[in-house]
Amino acid sequence: MVPKSRMAPTPSPAFLSAMPKVELHVHIEGSIRPATVLKLAERHGETLPADTVEGLSEWYDFRDFEHFVEVYIAVSKCVRTPEDIELIVREFLEGQAEQNVLHTEATYTASTIEKLCGIPWDEQIDAVNRAREWAHEEYGVTLGLIIDLVRGHPVERGMEVLGWVKGSLGNGVIAMGRTNDAILYGGRVHLTVRGDDAAARQLALQLPSRNSRDYGRSFADIFKEVEYDFYKIDGALFAPAEVWVSNLDSGNTWHAGALNMALLQGLWLQQA
Ligand SMILES: [Zn+2]
Repeated sequence: MVPKSRMAPTPSPAFLSAMPKVELHVHIEGSIRPATVLKLAERHGETLPADTVEGLSEWYDFRDFEHFVEVYIAVSKCVRTPEDIELIVREFLEGQAEQNVLHTEATYTASTIEKLCGIPWDEQIDAVNRAREWAHEEYGVTLGLIIDLVRGHPVERGMEVLGWVKGSLGNGVIAMGRTNDAILYGGRVHLTVRGDDAAARQLALQLPSRNSRDYGRSFADIFKEVEYDFYKIDGALFAPAEVWVSNLDSGNTWHAGALNMALLQGLWLQQA
C-alpha cells in the first residue's frame, strides 16, 4: 500500500479524456453502439428484447454471467455481412479517436461471428482492415486485433482459429487472447518508462498480481463471488504475474513477481 499522502491526486475526467491513451482490453462486439445494434437488427430481421436505444441500454446492464452471454450472442447475431463488420469497427475507432485513444489492441471473437453469422474469416479480416485503414487515415488512430478462443469449444476448433491467426499475423492481427488466469499467474510484461527511479521502482513492486488480496484463486471464482460485477473486483488483480520496469532515462531496471505455472496448471485441470 502507498500512504495516501504520497499518492498523486486523482486527475479530473477532462484531463483523462484529453490525455493521449492506449487501450489494451476492449471487445469490439461488446462496444457496438446501441443505435447501431438496432439498425443492424432491423436490416436483418432480428428481434431484440428492446427496440429503443434506452431500452437496449437497460438490457445491456447484465444481471449475471448467463445474461451477459445472452446479450453478447444476441448482439453478435446482428452482424451478418462484411459491411456490418466494417461499420461497427469504423464506429468503434471513431469513438476511440473522440476519447483520444491513439492505439487500441482490441479483442474480437471471429469464431463466433463465423459460426453464428456465416462470414468466413478472410472476409471478416478484410472488412476490419478496411475500417482500420480508414480510421488511420481519418483520425491517425491505430488498431491491432487480438483474436480470442471460445472456452468450451473443442480443441480442433481452437486449432482452426489458430490457423486463421497465423495466416493474418501482421495484417491487422497481432496476437491471440489469453484468459484472465493465464495473465494473472503466467503473464510476463516488460514496461519501459521515463521519469524518476523511485516512481519506476514503486511501479515494479506494486504491479504484479501477487499484491492482490485474491491472488491464488481462479478468476472464475472471484468473478462469481462479486456477483459478476467487474467493478467490485480488486483492481490489483488485473495484472501480470511477473514484471520488469526499465527506466529509459536512467538505464535502471526493476524486476518483481514470479510466474506460478503449478497453480495455473492446477486451476486449468480443475476447470477441464
Ligand atoms: Zn475481455
